[in-house]
Amino acid sequence: EFSAMAANLNKMVEDIRRLMDKERESERTKNELITNIAHDLRTPLTSIIGYLELLSGPNSNMSAEMEKKYINITYTKAKRLEKLIEDLFGFTKLNYGKVSMKVTKVDIVKLLSQLLEEFYPNFMDKDLAYELQSNVPAKIINADGNLLARLFDNLINNAIKYGAEGKRIVVKIHAAESMVTVSVTNYGYVIPKEELPLLFEKFYRVEQSRSSNTGGTGLGLAIARNIVEMHGGTIGVASDLNGTVFTVRLQVDFDINKENFGNPGDRHE
Ligand code: ATP
Ligand code: MG
Repeated sequence: EFSAMAANLNKMVEDIRRLMDKERESERTKNELITNIAHDLRTPLTSIIGYLELLSGPNSNMSAEMEKKYINITYTKAKRLEKLIEDLFGFTKLNYGKVSMKVTKVDIVKLLSQLLEEFYPNFMDKDLAYELQSNVPAKIINADGNLLARLFDNLINNAIKYGAEGKRIVVKIHAAESMVTVSVTNYGYVIPKEELPLLFEKFYRVEQSRSSNTGGTGLGLAIARNIVEMHGGTIGVASDLNGTVFTVRLQVDFDINKENFGNPGDRHE
């Protein structure tokens, strides 16, 4: 009897220790997140303040043209700040399980072809050709259509932003009995191998794009991964001279009640 009690106690001690570790880890992640956010918000804000000071300074005998230019820059930076804040809200909501999923029947082929159509002006803008390939004319899966749209929106946006040199973007759907695989491929710049696993980390940006002339936050792929995991699927990336390919695998019969996944926010990052 005593040995059973001892075993029980030991198990409790172990459970408590694990909980405490988890708490400590999530506290650390939170602090890191806040530091990153503060840094990212300060950059555009500093330049907004700088330009406003120039505009309202006492001895500003600036030409109307200069004035207009500065106002424009301030406006662009303010918009950038707005996007950052929006991204952040979207991300924390997802990460802390505040987004309830509305799972319905979604035609994934239709969803992607509509999405690509919406991107038409962006493709034109960058002189990019695009192609949608599918082994079936339609494929119904269980999923949250809005979340999936957001997921692929992020991937296609990236392909346009980072693959503009490649002239071509290919979206491929392969539907099988129980899984659907969607890949988004762009060409041009190859991502160094050692950086590939880091891309899905929040705020991670490959050196080349960090210079911020592409203006990203580094949250797009972290959000994409959260959405995929909420659907019990997987996302991966490969990059070589044959292109940069993001591959998403989704279950056809996803059942939110059967799904034994933790809240994505529980994952230790
Ligand atoms: P945003 O939050 O606006 O999406 P972002 O695009 O920088 O910002 P992610 O979408 O998370 O952030 O991508 C992270 C980084 O991965 C990018 O900065 C870029 O360096 C790299 N990357 C993502 N997609 C591609 C791609 N298709 N081709 C090449 N590099 C890519
Ligand atoms: Mg992105």
